[in-house]
Amino acid sequence: MLEKKVELEGLKVVEIEKCKSDIKKMREEMAARNTRINCPCKYSFLDENKKLTPRRDVPSYPKYMLSQETIEALRKPTFDVWLWEPNEMLSCLEHMYHDLGLVKDFNINPITLKRWLLCIHDNYRNNPFHNFRHCFCVTQMMYSMISLCSLQEKFSQIDILILMTAAVCHDLDHPGYNNTYQINARTELAVRYNDISPLENHHCAVAFQIIAQPECNILSSVDQEQFKRIRQGIITLILATDMARHAEILDSFKEKMEKFDYSNEEHVTCLKMVLIKCCDISNEVRPMEVAEPWVDCLLEEYFMQSDREKSEGLPVAPFMDRDKVTKPTAQIGFLKFVLIPMFEIVTKLFPEVEEVMLQPLWESRDRYEELKQIDDAMKENCAAKHHGTLQYMATMTEKN
Ligand SMILES: [Zn+2]
Repeated sequence: MLEKKVELEGLKVVEIEKCKSDIKKMREEMAARNTRINCPCKYSFLDENKKLTPRRDVPSYPKYMLSQETIEALRKPTFDVWLWEPNEMLSCLEHMYHDLGLVKDFNINPITLKRWLLCIHDNYRNNPFHNFRHCFCVTQMMYSMISLCSLQEKFSQIDILILMTAAVCHDLDHPGYNNTYQINARTELAVRYNDISPLENHHCAVAFQIIAQPECNILSSVDQEQFKRIRQGIITLILATDMARHAEILDSFKEKMEKFDYSNEEHVTCLKMVLIKCCDISNEVRPMEVAEPWVDCLLEEYFMQSDREKSEGLPVAPFMDRDKVTKPTAQIGFLKFVLIPMFEIVTKLFPEVEEVMLQPLWESRDRYEELKQIDDAMKENCAAKHHGTLQYMATMTEKN
């Protein structure tokens, strides 16, 4: 009898522990859901039955006439991405697909294009950085590079469609916490993708979940073979945006650059990977007034993550720690060791990139170095004052 009682008690303890962990899990899920914008079409792996139709349909999607001035400006990295409402950004994206001849060449239904874009918008979350405006920036930079480097003369229209569509979809449903967090916190995404680029795999999966909806399928007119190529191309490009693979991708590109060959498919794929990487982290290419607010947005997202990591007892990366990072220190390293070297290699293939994209990067690096010097001088001054006060207090104490 006693043995049975002990066994039963033991089972109860196990059950209580299980309930506790279930409650914890449910709390986390609820918190995760509450951070999303309330949108019936929000795609979630937890809710497989939910449809991916846009929350508004096309008739209520206001028509924006883009002025000739806007249309011209849209082709350049100097375009001010902060001036526009989501609906206006949607119209700009729509314009790019028409202007590049993608609507015509792939027989995209113009209404489907509008619906697809609406659904894309609805599936970006309201994060400080990884939001729909970031998606717009990356795509607009891609559009600028296509124009600046005359990529339509070098690439097939399929490649142009892959570049643009991968840019539009590359951060879909980003939760605002990076891969390191996903892996360390053992989130659902990390478990699903076995710690291998969980976020990028998710962005890509959501992209094709959207395409799978007939009313949003911009690829409904392409044949099976073309669809396969486009799908593979988009997957490769979105997965290439994982910065953990930066060195690997750049090394492979450098190797091919020694004798770059546009008729070699591997070479072209590698170039496309570098192009989307360039656009993804291209904020500093933009004029200072446009670029600088993005640094604050990124730090806000980083601090949100590091605060959460601290509270959950997870490791914190120094570059995300609000006690360790400042705007200039964050930017100088990134510009010197990531951005500038990458754009320098691209310049070898496209000399026109130097003046339009590299020059602003050099200027930005110099500006942040100046700002850092001012920061350092102020800190030193502060320390000296602090030291002086201590000395003064010591002498006063001695006198007393
Ligand atoms: Zn991105």
